[in-house]
Parts: sequence; C-alpha cells; structure tokens
Amino acid sequence: MTDSSRRFGTRALWAADPEDQRGRDVALPIHHSVNFAYEDMDEWFDVALDQKPGYIYSRNKNPTVRPLELTMRALEGAEEAISFSTGMAAISNTLFTLLAPGDRVVAIKDTYGGTNKLFIEFLPRMKVDVALCDTLDFDTIEAEIRKGCKLLYLETPTNPTLKVVDIARLSRVAHQYGALVAVDNTFATPINQRPLELGADLVLYSATKYLNGHSDAMGGILCGPKAIVDQVYHYREINGATLHANSAYMILRGLKTLELRIQRHNENAQRVAEHLQQHDKVTSVFYPGLPDHPNHAIARAQMDGYGGMLSFSLRGGFDQVKRLLAGLRLAHKAASLGSVSTLVGPPRVTSHVELTPEERKAAGIPESLIRYSAGIENAEDLLADLDQALAGL
Ligand SMILES: *Cc1c(COP(=O)(O)O)cnc(C)c1O
Repeated sequence: MTDSSRRFGTRALWAADPEDQRGRDVALPIHHSVNFAYEDMDEWFDVALDQKPGYIYSRNKNPTVRPLELTMRALEGAEEAISFSTGMAAISNTLFTLLAPGDRVVAIKDTYGGTNKLFIEFLPRMKVDVALCDTLDFDTIEAEIRKGCKLLYLETPTNPTLKVVDIARLSRVAHQYGALVAVDNTFATPINQRPLELGADLVLYSATKYLNGHSDAMGGILCGPKAIVDQVYHYREINGATLHANSAYMILRGLKTLELRIQRHNENAQRVAEHLQQHDKVTSVFYPGLPDHPNHAIARAQMDGYGGMLSFSLRGGFDQVKRLLAGLRLAHKAASLGSVSTLVGPPRVTSHVELTPEERKAAGIPESLIRYSAGIENAEDLLADLDQALAGL
C-alpha cells in the first residue's frame, strides 16, 4: 500500500502492508524457509519466470525481505529497491553490474574506505578506468565528466570530515554527458536527503547504520529506476549477496522509528557541535549544520537536517585523543556509526589507519581528529560527558 502523499513516518510503518488486513499478522513474520512449495507445475513455472507473484528460493526472493525493499522504495520515492547482505555488497554489486571493461567512472576521493578500495584496487583490475577527484573541486569533477564516463559516483556528507557535495549541480552535468549518477546516502538517510529528488539516478545505503540503527544487523539497499535495479538484482541472484530474513526483519523494525530517531540524532549532533566549537581544547569542529562549515549553504539547500555525524580535533597530539576517549563514559569506542547509542573513534586508528601521516594530511584529516556519531541519548548528558572528559586533558 504505497501512497506518496503520506509523510515519511507514516510510509515507514505502512508502505509494505497489504490492502486486505483481515487476519494478517500485525508484526511481520520472519520467513526462515529457504524454499517455497508448489502443487501446480504451471503456477511454479509462471512464478519462476516472474509472470506471477510468488516466492521460490530465498537467495532470490523472500517474503520477509521483500517488505523491507517495498518500504525503502516508498521512503525514497523510487521505482524499485533491492536489498543486500551488507552495504558493501550493495555498492560492489551495483558497480560490477553497471561497469564493464573499457568503461570509465568518475568518483570523489572521500568515499567510504571499502568503496575506495573498489575504485583503486578491484575496478582497475577489470580494466575499468577510474577518475578520483578532489571531493570539493566541483569544476574538476565536471571536467572529468565531460571527458566521458558511464557513471558518476558520489557520497555526501562524507566520512570523516563531513564534506557536502552538490548533488543537483553534478547530476545535471552528468546527464548532459549521458552518465548515470549514484549517491551513497548512508550518512543522511531519506529523512535528511533524497538524492533522486535532486537529480541522481541511484541511491545506495549501508542499512547497517541509521536504517537499522541499533548496531545489531547488517544490510545494504539500492533504490532507482526499475530497469537498472532489475539488472543489479539479476547480478545479485547469481553473486549471492542476499539479505537474510532475520536481518530484514531487524532493519524493517528499525525503519519504523527512523524519522523519530533521525530528528533526535540531528538535534543532538547540532548541540554537541555548537558546544564543542566553544571549547578552548577543541581546535576545529566539522559539522554541516554549523554556519561556518565551508559547505553549509549547499547542505542547507539539499538537506532537510544535517545528520547525526560530526568530527572534531583537539589541541595537542594523539595522546590527547587517547585521554579524551578514555574519559568519555557515554560513548562506545567502536567502529561504525548511526546507532541509538553514541559511538566515537579516531579515523587515525579506524577508517584511515592504512594511510601514512602525510596521506592523512593531504586528505585534510588532522591526526587528533575524533569522529562522533551522536546517539539518541539526552543531549544534556552528552554535553556533560564531553565536558568532564575534556576537563581531564
Ligand atoms: C559503513 C558504510 C558502508 C559499508 O557498509 P557495510 O554495511 O559495513 O558493508 C558504505 N558506505 C558508507 C558511507 C558507510 O558508512
């Protein structure tokens, strides 16, 4: 039951519910079954050829996984959506479906670490030409698009310094030159940013982060035009990176509270960013919701909220980072992001551990940078916790 006039909070709860509610489960059942039985061979044949709705084998389709895809399709306003076992599965399946030897892809340098590995290691091995551009150098990105490319790949806001890329401007140029535009929207979620409305063709997610939101299930999502999503679905059927019914249930459950959670993540991150900006032991704060953020104007135009992610650097070196993290009580020192509980980690030992200090400097990542994924705790408690930890430096 999809009704695009309904708001997000409503769609997240009702989009996948059947019209006829009589005798239906109110909570979605988890279909563990690998296979689905038939008596009538003609019907089995029709389902197998997709001429009739139904389920055959869970690597391809499953009745718990499909409602998640329908819900994401409705939240994103897309023609079609499919799911994957992880965010990286969504990204790699999409790139390997759309790119063939001899093709060219233009991307920004600040993509997620795993995505960047695809661009520098695996796609070149397949003879795909990859042009990685400075994330905020839109003129150079446009010049690379004009040289001809099959796909423009963006991610915004970026990890860990929260750069904001102008989706509408770059999509316009990509379309003039016949390229598709894919955007990793993991940090923003459909509540804060909808790339399809800004002109992109495809939206990708690590559902492991905000969509699920509780650090207890992994998954990936691709949304876009049916003709393209179906091609990627066909690749995924064979590649086998299918989402499990249990994880689909968890992510769908997470989606029911997505709007509420994101509102709180947005508020808490804004409060924490403004608070840290006033602190004399903090040298810089990176958050798109701060008026002095270099891309604040783009963020204000293309986002409905600035998200729950921020990062900041400390006066002094990495020793100070170690001390601050040891002093924080209301933050798991752990990888990943987008959970209901606050998570912190230094990019120097997490996402950017493989770079040399010079490479981190070139990427604009201070050695004393701390990434902060603001949870949904009470903001006053988060500020007090940061204050007491900063006081110990
Ligand atoms: C985590 C993340 C991914 C990868 O997702 P997994 O679920 O860990 O495979 C991709 N893009 C972004 C922006 C991420 O934060």
